[in-house]
Amino acid sequence: MTDQERVMKDVLAFTERNEEEQMFNKVKSYINKIKRQRDALKAELKKYESDEKITELENEIEDIKANSLFIFSEDEKKEEIKFKKDHRKCDSNIYYYFEGTEIGIAVGMKCSQCGLIKDITDYSRW
Ligand SMILES: [Zn+2]
Repeated sequence: MTDQERVMKDVLAFTERNEEEQMFNKVKSYINKIKRQRDALKAELKKYESDEKITELENEIEDIKANSLFIFSEDEKKEEIKFKKDHRKCDSNIYYYFEGTEIGIAVGMKCSQCGLIKDITDYSRW
């Protein structure tokens, strides 16, 4: 091996090491970026895990369920909200009943804990 060949070999080895190091650094910074994104998502998730947010979403789901079943009038809606509020302390299921008659549909609610039944029908719609 001539001196020139030896120098060339050293230069090539040096370049290769440098490239490996650069590649390694790129991968490292990519992993760090992913980690930062993960931490940000974790923080975001925590927000959604707060009780307040869950209650809000549960109420929304309940509203959607109730409304898809029966279209409440404004007054019925008010009565429905009041009933749910009054029985929040019962912490139980609320049942709805619908009674079809010749002139309209009566709607009522029942609390499965204390057993209270309330007719919330808005008869002004009949
Ligand atoms: Zn109750």
